[in-house]
Amino acid sequence: MMAFEPVIGLEVHAQLKTATKIFCGCSTRFGAPPNTHTCPVCLGLPGALPVLNRKVVEYTLRMALATHCRINSNCRFARKNYFYPDLPKGYQISQYEQPIAVGGYVDIQIDSETRRIGLTRIHMEEDAGKLVHDPERPISLVDLNRAGTPLMEIVSEPDLRSPEEAGAYLRILRSIVRWIDIGDGNMEEGSFRCDANISLRPKSQTTLGTRAEIKNLNSFKHVEKALRYEIARQTEILLEGGAIAQETRLWDPDKGVTHSMRGKEEAHDYRYFPDPDLLPLHIHDRWVADIRAQLPELPEERHARFMSEHQLSAYDAGVLTGSRELADYFETCVRAFPQPKTAANWIMGALLGLLNAQGKTIEETPVAAADLADLLKLIDQGLISTTIAKTVFEQMAATGRPPSQIVEEQGLAQVSDSGALEQAIDQVLASHPAELGRYREGQTKLMGFFVGQIMRATAGKANPQMVNRLLKAKLDAPPSD
Ligand SMILES: [Zn+2]
Repeated sequence: MMAFEPVIGLEVHAQLKTATKIFCGCSTRFGAPPNTHTCPVCLGLPGALPVLNRKVVEYTLRMALATHCRINSNCRFARKNYFYPDLPKGYQISQYEQPIAVGGYVDIQIDSETRRIGLTRIHMEEDAGKLVHDPERPISLVDLNRAGTPLMEIVSEPDLRSPEEAGAYLRILRSIVRWIDIGDGNMEEGSFRCDANISLRPKSQTTLGTRAEIKNLNSFKHVEKALRYEIARQTEILLEGGAIAQETRLWDPDKGVTHSMRGKEEAHDYRYFPDPDLLPLHIHDRWVADIRAQLPELPEERHARFMSEHQLSAYDAGVLTGSRELADYFETCVRAFPQPKTAANWIMGALLGLLNAQGKTIEETPVAAADLADLLKLIDQGLISTTIAKTVFEQMAATGRPPSQIVEEQGLAQVSDSGALEQAIDQVLASHPAELGRYREGQTKLMGFFVGQIMRATAGKANPQMVNRLLKAKLDAPPSD
């Protein structure tokens, strides 16, 4: 059977979190009553002129620098002409021949290997409005609140080879957008959307096969599912000797299939030309240098530093740099408790498990980094066992109180007083004479049974090392009478 290799490229639209739209002063706030955030410019009324929002350029430059792109110091806007009821001007203002940035990359981690995914270009454009269909009446309504919302389109090279890689790439891209604070990356509200181009080719071949474009991918899960479906569909056609149609397909998340939507448009179908209402944009090197200087330490830089400075594995460093807030949390914790591996394990296990179960983000964590560090100190000092620490952690999460207070009030501190422990051991031995006899006849495995009984008798608070030492001495001592 012929083996095919998928070739995938993604076009991501990320909404930029400016207060106002890209070419007018209307608010970009989500969820307002329909058509209340509109003006002659974004309604496309004759004679209204667009004025570029400087913040949109600044935010796009941040992204371009964070993804190693080359900045085009001379770029311009173009009209992309097409008719649709949610596009009152009859064209969308975008960038075509001279985008703001080209030729960058991001690194993704797949099976503990790093793969570099090229970025063809990043450009700025305006969003269209929204059609609301009411099948009851039946009628379609237009809401132009979204028209003119600033978008950044990030186009990747066809470098992705599997649905998993596409998912990893999208996650990295979204984490960068959030990390450098230019967008919320919220897929449910449509502020981070993706179209996927996918074709197959025989494994040894280097030329590209005919591709299909899949639209309407509004979650990471859907992107991966739609690509998997499309790989199966195209493989079947190719194995039967058929040809793939170049077309735009729509993902149906309910049925889990893609449908043909229309033949794929070529660029010439849009009759692009420079927008005469907007001046060519010249970007000063000094401005770019200023923006570069203000960028925070980026995810990949922090990833590398977590591995070198804190000796974390690539996987752990990857999880902990999943967001800037999580990375900050980890470092706050490690500053107070300088055992990075232990801190990483607790954050990735107990903390992320808890947040996941409660559907919360790290910003909403009920356990402060300093409190987690205090808890780890209590374990390290031998004051509580790891088992008790898990209970304390749960109570910290439920009440937001510091660990030492919980341990003290509930008497959870480990019993390290040898007198008290000896008493507990004596009681356990006295109430299990049969097991004691069998131990002394050579069944030394019963040691574990006695330890368990003593831990139970002390509600898990006995210091395990001391129990082991004292118990061994008593068991191996000759009978006292
Ligand atoms: Zn407006």
